[in-house]
Amino acid sequence: MRKLNFSAGPCIMPVEVLEEIRDNIVDFEGHGLSLIENSHRHKYYDDVHNEAIQLMKELLNIPDGYSVLFLGGGATLTFAMIPMNFRGEGQSADYVLSGAWAKKAWSDADKLGRTNIVFDGKENGYTVLPDPASVKPSKDSAYLHITSNETIGGLQWKNWPETGTVPLICDMSSDIMSREIPVDKFSMIYGGVQKNLGPAGAAFMIIKDDLLERSPDSLPAYLNFKLHASKNAMYNTPPVFTIWAVKLFLQWVKKNGGVPEMKRRADQKSTLLYNAIDGSDGFYVSPVDPRFRSTMNVVFRLKDENLEKEFLAESEKEGMMFLKGHRSVGGCRASIYNAMPVEMVKTLADFMKSFSKKRG
Ligand SMILES: *Cc1c(COP(=O)(O)O)cnc(C)c1O
Repeated sequence: MRKLNFSAGPCIMPVEVLEEIRDNIVDFEGHGLSLIENSHRHKYYDDVHNEAIQLMKELLNIPDGYSVLFLGGGATLTFAMIPMNFRGEGQSADYVLSGAWAKKAWSDADKLGRTNIVFDGKENGYTVLPDPASVKPSKDSAYLHITSNETIGGLQWKNWPETGTVPLICDMSSDIMSREIPVDKFSMIYGGVQKNLGPAGAAFMIIKDDLLERSPDSLPAYLNFKLHASKNAMYNTPPVFTIWAVKLFLQWVKKNGGVPEMKRRADQKSTLLYNAIDGSDGFYVSPVDPRFRSTMNVVFRLKDENLEKEFLAESEKEGMMFLKGHRSVGGCRASIYNAMPVEMVKTLADFMKSFSKKRG
């Protein structure tokens, strides 16, 4: 039996995609060699690379004037590359501290230069987000950075701030492709692909061309977004296996109704779990302000740690994996990314109900 994979990342993959990889890993589309032993400058790979980029543009409705890249280093390297490329001499950069990932993005920018914190969710234990209308860039800001979905805390922005002429940059690692986004509001959208687009090994970046103009030539080659964009993300050997799998994942999204259908499923799946939490008479508690509850990472707690341990052990016996919350916050977390079938979430919701009846 396939396990029910509630991992926060690397994420569950569609079985069809895994099967397609299996069927092609030795002999890629009948060409007599594997894609991962093929030159990345050869047509077989080139087609895969460009198709992955094209599918990102198509599925996310990315307007003209943006470059799409897949690069190694994950979202984490991107945290540092953003200020290196886009914060000019003497400028500051604005950050919204909404949780663990936003803080990491801010921390790298702060090590490298001047930052300004426009909102810090600390006093509420990172369980609320600011009203987007209240989020305004400061005067000498190079850009304003937000994190669309806090994977550990389980919070998600539902509306976007207006930053005027100051570029808005967003880490969408854990909810990309799960809802429609007004790409033109953003100058850059990025994230690791292993949460909602494929296996680990690459980050995606969607960058407005006028922002790319800021990348200084003084940067080391790999750290320069403009250089990568000018080479169609093939300046060096790309993570070919990962990008191939992302391409297959995106084809699966397209075949399954695209982003609107992913959004419908995300709403349906998260509602199943939040209803189980809210209908449990306090047996399960969601720490997150209901206005900002994530549709991707559903975080909840039980009355005490012993009960949580029992819950995790029993659910694992029934094939439900990785429901333990992040070590920094404890509790439980169900990550229900795009490839998670509704039926698996129903199984968890039913399990939650029967467990609370037994122990409540
Ligand atoms: C996982 C995650 C990251 C880090 O991604 P890596 O690709 O592992 O560097 C950054 N931001 C968010 C929101 C994440 O969920």
